[in-house]
Amino acid sequence: MTALAENTGQTLVDGMGRTIVNLRISVTDRCNFRCTYCMPADNVEFMPREKLLSFEEITRIARIGAGMGIKRLRLTGGEPLMRKDLPTLISMLAKLDGIEDIAMTTNAFFLKEHAKTLKEAGLKRLNISLDALDPEKFRDVNRRDCLKEVLEGMRVSAEVGFKSIKVNAVAMKNFSETEILGLIEMGRSEGFEIRFIEFMPLDSDRNWERDKVLFGHEILDLIREKHDLVPVENSLEIGPASEYDFADGKGRVGIITAVSNPFCDHCNRIRMTANGKLRTCLFSTDETDLKELIRGNASDEDIVKAIKDAVLIKEPGHKINLDDFEQPQRAMHAIGG
Ligand code: SAM
Ligand code: SF4
Repeated sequence: MTALAENTGQTLVDGMGRTIVNLRISVTDRCNFRCTYCMPADNVEFMPREKLLSFEEITRIARIGAGMGIKRLRLTGGEPLMRKDLPTLISMLAKLDGIEDIAMTTNAFFLKEHAKTLKEAGLKRLNISLDALDPEKFRDVNRRDCLKEVLEGMRVSAEVGFKSIKVNAVAMKNFSETEILGLIEMGRSEGFEIRFIEFMPLDSDRNWERDKVLFGHEILDLIREKHDLVPVENSLEIGPASEYDFADGKGRVGIITAVSNPFCDHCNRIRMTANGKLRTCLFSTDETDLKELIRGNASDEDIVKAIKDAVLIKEPGHKINLDDFEQPQRAMHAIGG
């Protein structure tokens, strides 16, 4: 181990003065679902397995990141639980100096089987994706008939002791309206925070249109027909969601207005794809190839420099709302959401 392996108390600051503390690590681009807003229905071309970073390579990058000021890791994909032996990676990451939190975003299908081992390995938090409680709508949007397994995965995760589980629902016009109140009721009774994320132009099918987004203000209007909400102060400074407490004291809801009111000014994250490309924005059109560096015997110092150089020119914000917006080549499952 070089001196960089220890946490140096350094901070990683981009050209806009934003301090980067979050690293999202995609461990695979494969998935057992085919959500319409993310993947194509069939004929998906996946990354060849030899191009995926090994657990050792991922851990090395996370260790170097931790030495530069990364404190929080999130595992994602594709479906992260499609990657074999994921708890092994988690336990490797949990041992790193300076890493305070390891979370995972998952479709929950495999949680019934794995929640306990993941928790024991050091996974602290879970975000579970669930767009609909109506089985037919679930099947329409996820292109799999798996609502039962997902709900069971959520139940088991709570049972093995995962606290503050968050549920992500992509908000789409003419789809989500009928699901919002049901998801909220479930969240309030089970103790999950439901977060509605405006549908973003990151789908493989390239079917995104502004008219297909159910906007944050529309979601709030629907919720307010039934519940009084109290805004949580400064929630956008902590994470991407504008959060609201239910006035009766029972639970919280989050709205991620990624399209209508992006949180880019507060963005404190970078991402690494499963094949080792560093992306400084979900919508980046450029990437830094960390895999090539690692497999080319680069020193820790070389990797530090590559990360710093990339972060320095992190995009000020995405351009969804501008005329020169370009949808990235990679779809969400190949980036790591
Ligand atoms: N497979 C896991 C899952 O679905 O939770 C992790 C990867 S998935 C790409 C991460 C998150 O991105 C999910 O919550 C999913 O709903 C969200 N997502 C995917 N495509 C999206 C899109 N076009 N707009 C908004 N959110 C999207
Ligand atoms: Fe799979 Fe997650 Fe993409 Fe759905 S959103 S297809 S579960 S990676």
